[in-house]
Amino acid sequence: MDATHDPKLTSWVASANGHPDFPIQNLPHGVFSPPGGGKRGGVAIGNSILDLGAALPLLPAALRPVAEAAAQPTLNDFFALGAEARQALRAGLSALLAAGNRAPPAALAGLLHEAAACTMHVPCAIGDYTDFFAGIHHARNGGKLFRPENPLLPNYKYVPVAYHGRASSVRVSGTPVIRPNGQRKPGNETVPSFGPCRLLDYEMEFGVWIGPGNAPGAPIPIGQAASHIAGYCLLNDWSARDIQGWESQPLGPFLAKNFHTSVSPWVVTPEALEPFRIAQEARPEGDPAPLDYLLDARDQAQGALNLDVEVQLQTSQGGPFRLSLSNTRHLYWTFAQMVAHHASGGCNLNPGDLFGSGTISSPTEDGFGALLEITYGGRQPVTLPNGEERRFLEDGDTVIFNARAALPGWVSIGFGECRGTVRPAPG
Ligand code: MN
Repeated sequence: MDATHDPKLTSWVASANGHPDFPIQNLPHGVFSPPGGGKRGGVAIGNSILDLGAALPLLPAALRPVAEAAAQPTLNDFFALGAEARQALRAGLSALLAAGNRAPPAALAGLLHEAAACTMHVPCAIGDYTDFFAGIHHARNGGKLFRPENPLLPNYKYVPVAYHGRASSVRVSGTPVIRPNGQRKPGNETVPSFGPCRLLDYEMEFGVWIGPGNAPGAPIPIGQAASHIAGYCLLNDWSARDIQGWESQPLGPFLAKNFHTSVSPWVVTPEALEPFRIAQEARPEGDPAPLDYLLDARDQAQGALNLDVEVQLQTSQGGPFRLSLSNTRHLYWTFAQMVAHHASGGCNLNPGDLFGSGTISSPTEDGFGALLEITYGGRQPVTLPNGEERRFLEDGDTVIFNARAALPGWVSIGFGECRGTVRPAPG
């Protein structure tokens, strides 16, 4: 922890002070277009976005190369620079925005943009996207639907299970989600039919943005894995459950999950989350210890995050209504373990690669991170406060994720929204 986390620190950008997501203690990076302007890198501060290109002359000369990388229309080069450069820029930006250091009037032009008037973009050119399955309560709840006696497969507590997803269809929050067409074969039908997904679902996940990569054949030791993470976002792994159920045997998800993945636009850095790191939850008695290549004392002591994650549903009739509240502490594997495992066989990660954590369900019903779990596979509809019922998502439904880090003694920070509205399948 350093001066950038000081709870007494305030900003001359007045809307940042007391802002639920973007006080001066957060300073997340993103890519935006101001009205009539091109794509560029910026930093969220209150209700504004700091234009890093415009801020260059106000920063110490030593920081300018880093700020220039973070001002580009994609953040890949910035992520590649790693933790030390990122921390230095954070310190410089914190000083620039701190109360009492208001920029001279001549320098203010073009420095700040009203966030509500800007368009946000996916922050990186994503080379590869991998979706993990580290939410053990989700894995168990999903498994129970098919194998009530034996919901978790024997590999689960040894392997951070994942599949390779699709980078081309990762889209920024707010992009409409077009219901996919696909092969459906419910149990009561003998042959499949092709048509609109009938069991459209969301999955509440965390996204991990990869920073410095590794060379092919050169695994990342678990003790160094955290330094390969550039930041975090919210991620919705939209899932077509009927298509998934039919197509996934034996190779796992394909078209059921590659039509759309939503990410929140702001990359919250590991530095901003430093006060909210906690020990990985102890494994229940009888669970195996992670194999050596996934076990690091420091990672176990502080490799988990304490962040509340909320799912809300807005229908065309009302809302938003809360569907669940969970916490990232419920993940069975740390983000560093995901990184170390991914590279352990020699796979090279690249700056700007994206991981999904897996659905972050809590042990209790009020924290289930997908409708599949909340409605027990669609068998028990959920009744919304306005009387509407849902088994799965309907056209016109909007799913909204939020996450907040709050701990006594520290200024709480948030991620901004990850939202998507379901549009009808193409006819
Ligand atoms: Mn998923």
